[in-house]
Amino acid sequence: MSEVDRKKRMVEIIHNYDENQAADAIYEKFIKLLEWVIFDITRCLLKTVEPKQGHWISSNEKDYDESLDYCFNCASKKVAEFNKKSKTKKYMVDGGWENHDSDYEAYCEECKCLLNYWPTEECAINIVEDFEAVEEITNEMSDDYLYSLNVVCGAAEDFENQGLRNRIAKICIKFLQWYSLYGKKKSASQ
Ligand SMILES: [Zn+2]
Repeated sequence: MSEVDRKKRMVEIIHNYDENQAADAIYEKFIKLLEWVIFDITRCLLKTVEPKQGHWISSNEKDYDESLDYCFNCASKKVAEFNKKSKTKKYMVDGGWENHDSDYEAYCEECKCLLNYWPTEECAINIVEDFEAVEEITNEMSDDYLYSLNVVCGAAEDFENQGLRNRIAKICIKFLQWYSLYGKKKSASQ
């Protein structure tokens, strides 16, 4: 959904708020708004952070399957190395798509930089578990951590697992508690 559409729907939901609605319907809207609001806040906090596009290495070798993620620089270096060693097989840099679906949080295998990704439910569950494991977020929240929350909130609307949506709502509230105490400091450091 585009940012404009999302904003329009946010306003619509708030304007059409009806206290006589069934509690379930209110809860559903509340969860959606919460996800969107946290998506916006985390994106603002990450405005200077630019995750790189994920790449991988493919080859003309039959059954070659190295499913590791790299940034473009590291993938290019690896490909050059591999091609130097091999006379018969050819390796090339593949991928480079924006926000590709991922079952895990994506980092470059070599330099460990953050890559952009869009979480599947499986990936979101892992991220949610990380947040749940922390009693209260009091220390500096890393950009990688913020980014994982940002993409989970962005993707959450498509998740069919209602239990997962409820857990995301809980970590959003946990994040808001952190934000009310440390958000200003984090904003200033950007
Ligand atoms: Zn790298």
